[in-house]
Amino acid sequence: MTTNVELKTFPLFINGQWTAASSGETFDVVSPATGEVFAKVSKGTRSDVDQAVQAARAAFNNDSWREMKPKERAQVLNNISYQIVAHAEELVYLEVMSSGGTLRRISSNDILQMADLFQQMAKFVVEYPFSETLPVPPFPGPSHNFVWREPIGVCAAITPWNMPMLIACWKIAPALATGNTIVLKPASYTPLTTLKLAEIISAVVPPGVINVVPGSGKEVGEYLASHPDVDKVAFTGSTEVGRRIMGLAAETIKNTTLELGGKSPNILLEDADLDIAIPGSLFGVFLHSGQLCESGTRLFVPDGIYDEVVERLVAWSKKVKLGHPLSPETDMGPVISKQQRDTILSYIEAGKQEGATLVCGGNEVTVPGCEGGYFIEPTIFTNVTNDMKIAQEEIFGPVLSVIRYSSVEEAIQLANDTIFGLAAGVWTRDVNKAYEVTRKLRAGVVWINDWHMLRNDAPFGGYKQSGIGREMGKYSLDAYTQLKHVHTSMVPQLERRSWYQLLFSQSE
Ligand code: NAP
Ligand code: MG
Repeated sequence: MTTNVELKTFPLFINGQWTAASSGETFDVVSPATGEVFAKVSKGTRSDVDQAVQAARAAFNNDSWREMKPKERAQVLNNISYQIVAHAEELVYLEVMSSGGTLRRISSNDILQMADLFQQMAKFVVEYPFSETLPVPPFPGPSHNFVWREPIGVCAAITPWNMPMLIACWKIAPALATGNTIVLKPASYTPLTTLKLAEIISAVVPPGVINVVPGSGKEVGEYLASHPDVDKVAFTGSTEVGRRIMGLAAETIKNTTLELGGKSPNILLEDADLDIAIPGSLFGVFLHSGQLCESGTRLFVPDGIYDEVVERLVAWSKKVKLGHPLSPETDMGPVISKQQRDTILSYIEAGKQEGATLVCGGNEVTVPGCEGGYFIEPTIFTNVTNDMKIAQEEIFGPVLSVIRYSSVEEAIQLANDTIFGLAAGVWTRDVNKAYEVTRKLRAGVVWINDWHMLRNDAPFGGYKQSGIGREMGKYSLDAYTQLKHVHTSMVPQLERRSWYQLLFSQSE
């Protein structure tokens, strides 16, 4: 990748324009690979949020945006897709530098998924039932009835740092597809690509349709979640902050979508094809240094193959090459921050204290050329029991807990013994057995003989405390529309309106 982006300050993006923050303050964006500051960003405040919400409201009140015909909207969505591809190089560079995700993943996966998402939305939007007609009822009298799906209004999106631009698109695409307007608050570690996306998208939508106000979660995030003129809040992040946001949104009864944490169980059945299941399970937990909400962090292994599985897991883990995420040879980059590194290390310490056996990794690593970066080895604990802290709490780092089981029923019971329910997996050669297990797993997605296979046409979201609502696919359009029932009476004669006698017993 050859793009060179000089150290510069990114302002806020409001009403189609780069806008200085009212505070005049900035904050640093640090490369987690080196610990060096590589950009500065204007620090938004409550008054900037007011300005962005006002712009979004004005754009929503614009009939030509809100009432745009699906075919025309599909063109807009396709144009956004082309714009993303045209700006791919800069987006990828900024995303790799700020999130620490590898160039290999972001350039070959995330950016294509984003472009494809808008194209899929363009298809869904022309097929979506924006207006449905109900059958004529026999009682109390003939009438014509529509169900219309209408945009919710001004949507706030609060997003995390792990896959910042992809997750932002999971909110932008359905919001715009259905005629809403949006104000985004990206994570403070990774605001750049969301800002850049807003600029790119603004080339094809009216000003105010998309706005971005970076700033602290406490100030900008909380204010957006409670703002009286925001109609919906869509949040991706930790369960703890999700709980807080739901509380804030409750004050004004906002429509709320939450995509939260996970502690996803991965069950190896006795007959699994280990040649695939071993690297597949590690792909499920170590991709992006374990910082993916749907990571398969608890691996359930039956007694009969336990020792063999552990040995092979360790051997495969040693193949993972840590390095600068911009290098195409790097398999695993850094974790997002010094603080996150310390949190992960403290979980590793807790695992040791609780009596789990560390069989692989467990240490921070100094990568040559990235001395100031935050790297942790792929780490595996065996002899983990499901009640241990490392098996119950989301670590959000490259740490796998291997848990032994004796019967499939026991594995399922332990798999479900968590507050979370985002993802789960089963590995077996027997597809019928796989469906039997899948039916019993309480999770929003179950992968059979695979992991991380999110699709732009499939719903994504959590059971239990992993969230409310679904993103992606045509299902996400439901999350950004509300239903209006429209009734037209077809009874022009007063005397035939028998139901009025519920109030007027005396007719003239
Ligand atoms: P986080 O701390 O919950 O932060 C997420 C976003 O919320 C950031 O923009 C953050 O802003 C903001 N925020 C923080 N405190 C807030 C508050 N009191 N009110 C309003 N907004 C607030 O999560 P994270 O540390 O960025 O990301 C890791 C977590 O996200 C993990 O738990 C992971 O499982 C979850 N996640 C879930 C999914 C999913 O789809 N289910 C996807 C990715 C990540 P600042 O950056 O300014 O603090
Ligand atoms: Mg946080």
